[in-house]
Amino acid sequence: MLVCDASHNEAMTANACGLPHFSSPQGESNYEAALRRYPGQAIVDLAALRDNMRHLVDVVGGPKSGTAVMGVVKADAYGHGLIPAALAALAGGATWLGTAQSHEALALRKAGIGPARCHILTWVYNGLAVPLDELIANDIDISLGSLAGIDALAGAARQLGRSARVHIKVDTGFGRNGFTEQGFDTALRKLVPLAKEGVLHIVGLWSHLAVADAPNVPEFVNSTDAQIEHFHDFERRMDAAGIAPEIRHLANTAATLTRPEIHFELTRPGIGLYGYEADPAMGGPQDYALTPAMTLQAQLGTVKDVEAGHGISYGRTYITDDDTSTAIVPLGYADGVHRSASGFDVRGAKHTDKPGGPVRVMTAEGPKLMRVSGRVCMDQFILDLHDSAARLGIHEGDTVQLFGPGRGEQSIEPTADDWARAADTISYEIFTCLRSRIPRLYTHANEVFGAGDLARLDPASVL
Ligand SMILES: *Cc1c(COP(=O)(O)O)cnc(C)c1O
Repeated sequence: MLVCDASHNEAMTANACGLPHFSSPQGESNYEAALRRYPGQAIVDLAALRDNMRHLVDVVGGPKSGTAVMGVVKADAYGHGLIPAALAALAGGATWLGTAQSHEALALRKAGIGPARCHILTWVYNGLAVPLDELIANDIDISLGSLAGIDALAGAARQLGRSARVHIKVDTGFGRNGFTEQGFDTALRKLVPLAKEGVLHIVGLWSHLAVADAPNVPEFVNSTDAQIEHFHDFERRMDAAGIAPEIRHLANTAATLTRPEIHFELTRPGIGLYGYEADPAMGGPQDYALTPAMTLQAQLGTVKDVEAGHGISYGRTYITDDDTSTAIVPLGYADGVHRSASGFDVRGAKHTDKPGGPVRVMTAEGPKLMRVSGRVCMDQFILDLHDSAARLGIHEGDTVQLFGPGRGEQSIEPTADDWARAADTISYEIFTCLRSRIPRLYTHANEVFGAGDLARLDPASVL
């Protein structure tokens, strides 16, 4: 049994001593085993994922609105774990799943998520190396946005004797994938006969927005408006060519939340499923009724007293300004903790002061916010506790939280947005950089899944 320190009773998590929610004694022993295996854990709340998806489905008008919702689960579900997150999205009412890389789309089907259950769209590939035949055979929808892609896909479909389900990708201003307005006539000339012949089944028309996450910046609002106009132009040209798409989709999380006029027949939220808004400039998760699903925690290594004037970590970018204690957090940039979240504080020296990434530490006086002090190393970083560890009741082995489902660092509940600010990046990169050596553990699995889906999870990952 895990010991619950009486001083750890002011936790924001479901459990008074800061332990995750366990569904069974087996879940508790899985947790203990995970702690022995590795000193950091990413704990994902499946109920939060499901409820975020339910909310996004509500935002587009509910399951009968004519707008479906895709759970975007690319990049191992933004680091949350592909299969568990995909199943939670389906439990919340998603009827589509989307991955960038095709091997992840295939992995979803291989996990038993069949075509009767949901559509799957994949969009990053080159026609030479990707097993297009396998994608077609597994009823996976494929994005099509280049002339070479048309040839490759038509070739694979013919060889298989089966029509390929395609979504025509158009570049409405993002400048990434898709046919440009100038190139679209040539594309249409190739597409129309293939569609008529049934080699290609033109399911969708789609594009991606560049600045939908800035609804308060007039210049960007105009630019999104222009992208929408271009999208409608492409749609008219397909209509005129006699290959009108069955469905249209353009909205990411930001547009799903703020642009109801472009929900069309499908929206594609990613970050919203994981409980974050696209950009903190839009507000916080709470403003959009979203709950961050992942908690990243670690168990402290060495805790010790050091004197004033002691350099901390590589490069001496941090010098203790008083007698203090330090604690090691055993996660580093090899775990995906950004080195750019290092903390600099050298009185009067060349480095400008810069606050490091925030960590919630439970103390005898309640939770306190500590920060990365000095440079993040490969496997660890250091916290200056700004007090005596003995006085604070902080010990080697204590669990600390880097981020979780809280209200932000000002409330001593740091989030991935706070880490993103400290590392000069976005929350998306905070999750997706977390390496696979950090165990992913799942809470509320029994509540969210029936027996069939429960059996698709790694049993050791279920708490
Ligand atoms: C990642 C991605 C999304 C989801 O974007 P969010 O900002 O996470 O909602 C949607 N569409 C495409 C094409 C993407 O690559």
